[in-house]
Parts: sequence; C-alpha cells; structure tokens
Amino acid sequence: MPKRTNSSADRRTPLTIQGSPVAHQCYSCDGCGTCCRHFVVELDAADQRLLDRQDWSDQLPHRPTVIRDGRVYLNKTADGACEFLDDENQCRIHARYGVDAKPLTCQLYPFEIVPCSDGQFRMSLRFDCHAVTESVGDPIQTSWPGIRLLAKARYLLGMHCSPEAVFWAEGTPAQHAQIDLLVSRCDAILTAADLAWSARLALLAGTIESFIRSEFTVGALDSAASVETEYGSVASSDVQLLRGLVYAVGDYVSFAGQVQASMWGRVSSALRHAGKARAFQRGTGLVPALHGSPTAVQFADIDVIRQARDGCAAEVAEMMTRWMRTWLLSRAWLGRACHGWSVQTGLAAWLMMAPMAGWVARWFAAGERRAHIERDDLVQAIRMVDHGLHMLPPLRQVTVERRLMHLWRSDGAIPKLCARYGVVDL
Ligand code: SF4
Repeated sequence: MPKRTNSSADRRTPLTIQGSPVAHQCYSCDGCGTCCRHFVVELDAADQRLLDRQDWSDQLPHRPTVIRDGRVYLNKTADGACEFLDDENQCRIHARYGVDAKPLTCQLYPFEIVPCSDGQFRMSLRFDCHAVTESVGDPIQTSWPGIRLLAKARYLLGMHCSPEAVFWAEGTPAQHAQIDLLVSRCDAILTAADLAWSARLALLAGTIESFIRSEFTVGALDSAASVETEYGSVASSDVQLLRGLVYAVGDYVSFAGQVQASMWGRVSSALRHAGKARAFQRGTGLVPALHGSPTAVQFADIDVIRQARDGCAAEVAEMMTRWMRTWLLSRAWLGRACHGWSVQTGLAAWLMMAPMAGWVARWFAAGERRAHIERDDLVQAIRMVDHGLHMLPPLRQVTVERRLMHLWRSDGAIPKLCARYGVVDL
C-alpha cells in the first residue's frame, strides 16, 4: 500500500478546531506591545514567503530575520524588541501591509492552535498575555470565527494533524480514551464547587500520583487519595528541584535578547546562565534577577511570604483555575503539543505549574515588601511560568523533564509542593 503523504485527500480533510475550553474567559488586545518584546517568533515557510514579498530594504535598523540552528526567527533589537516594533509600540508590518501580512504566530497571539496527539486541533490561550491572565475585554467566543478561519487558511495549505502514539511513561502506550477519562476526572476535581482551591489542588495531585503509582490503571482513579490526606513537610531536595524548575522556565524569558548575539556573546551568555542556575540550586543569598523579575530579594525572604488573604483569595483561585483548566482541556501538556513528553511528564509539568507560580508570586510579593501574595503577584507569576513552559529550548526541555521525573520518584513530593506553595490557604 502506498505510503500516505500530504495528499489532496489530506488537504480535503475537514479541519475541526475545538474551541477554547474554558467559559467566562475574556480577552481584548490593549496594544501594550509586551508580546512583541518577549516573544521569539519562529517563521515557517509561508511566513517567510510573506516577508519576502515585502520590501524592507533600508527601512529597519538591522536585518529582519536571523537563522539559529537551521531555524528562521524574526530579529530582535538589543533590548529584546522585535525588529518590526516601532517607537510607538506599533508593528511596522501591520501599519504598512495590514494584519494579513504578519507572521501567523503574531496574527494568532494570544490564541494558539494546538495540534493534539488524537489528531484534533484544539484552540488554546497563552497566559503570558496579561489581558488573558486578568480576563479583560470581550468574551473570547467573539474571536473564535476569525481565529478558526485564519488557522484553517494556513493549515489547510499543507498541514495535516495526524494522530500520534502517546505513552504513559517510556514504552507504556496510552489509549486516547483513557486520557479523555483522566482529563475529565481532573477537570471535575478542579471545578468542584464544594472544595476550596488548595483542597482541590492537593486532591488532584494525590489522585494523579496514586494513578501513576498504580501503573496507570484508570480504575485506580476510583480509589484515589482523599482530601483528608496529610502532607508532611517538604524535603529540602524537592524545594531545590522546584527552584530549579523556576529558573529553567523563568530564565528563558530573557532569551529574546540573545537572538542576534555573536558566537562569543552566546558563550558568555551560556556561562551567565550556568552561574544563575547554580545560585537557584543553592538557594542562599540574593535571588539572581531574571527578565522582568524583582531585584534585591533574598531567597530567605521568599519562604516566609504567606498565601493570598481573604480579600483576593477568591480572585486568585479563579485565575489559577482558569489557567490550569485551559492547559488541561486543550491538551497543551501532552505529546507533540508539549515538547513530545509522556503523559506522566506532561501531567507533572501541569501540576507543578501551581507550586511554581506560588513560588514566583512569593518572589514578587517579597520584592514589594508584602507579607502575603496579592493578585498582581500572581498575574506576574502566571505570565512568567506560562511563557517559560511554552518556550523551552531543547536543552532546557531535557533538564526540566529530568527534574519532573525525579519529583515523581520522590515519595509524595509533588502533592507536598502543591500543598506548601499553593497560592490560597487550605
Ligand atoms: S512582526 Fe509585528 S506583531 Fe510580530 S512580533 Fe514583530 S512587531 Fe510584533
């Protein structure tokens, strides 16, 4: 039988894109320009053809694109901004040739089309956009028709989302029906109205851990850990791993400024990163600043910050729930949508979003000399963690994957970290 390639039959395949899964989510762009500063925009062949048809000779301070490791990216100015961003925070491409002339990633952002392992495209949202994290503007449903049309126009030109095999762990194949069941169980816990946010998180972490320890049998979900489970103190080695994860996702935000660096610039930047990684591992003295993070904060200041208070606890819990549900239901944590990781690693990454955001929110609170996490601390924290998880470069992917697997092997580490570093009191 001839091998099926990207034939005309594939191109006629109706492209279904499931809408964003979370109701009550709003978004409108307020033109802050942050995405055009933080993002490293990779261009596909269609984007490159679009740019080739535009004339930017003598219009830009530097060349519009750079190639790194065989991939083509939009170039960056020294302060990390896209070469096309002008002094008024406007995109030059948009201003001169219209929105359709921009790279697809720019047109879609903060929406994202996730090609999932079950052969479906799903719509997801980036929470590194403050308007998404804070849910301000129009209901996102109003954007769906335009986003769908845009995505279909591009993907139908040549991209076919075929199903892929996924694995619970290395060599243990998973069925999509099992994953569906697991996802719906996790979502039911996350949205349980009779449980406080931190109780939901602890129950969720315990449930998934017992599911994984019982060798991935979905039946084990029925006898999962109860909310009454006592979580003892967290081992200092597990807190080290948490800090290591924060560094791995947080430091990548600053990668934007590195795109056009020379070879020597890249070597010295790698040495700087290694120094910061060691400091995060030690966890003593001053926390090395990452892009956009607070400065002059001691590691010791962070652990004494308390969780969100009554005044903003409900809002903080709602924000966390929206963020975690969006990742969970759009399958942004699984397979090719998430660095090709197994179910086990993807779930660990998804669960660890909560303690990572909790640690980073404490960092921001300490920077403002507050004793408790406030809403704005969490907004910044979610943006940093979300951005880093999406944009991990290959070397960091391996490091993060190893740390996550280590946490699963360390008895009860993930539930304990979720309980200790969650953002709202139990
Ligand atoms: S091309 Fe335009 S929209 Fe895209 S990152 Fe650059 S300035 Fe922003």
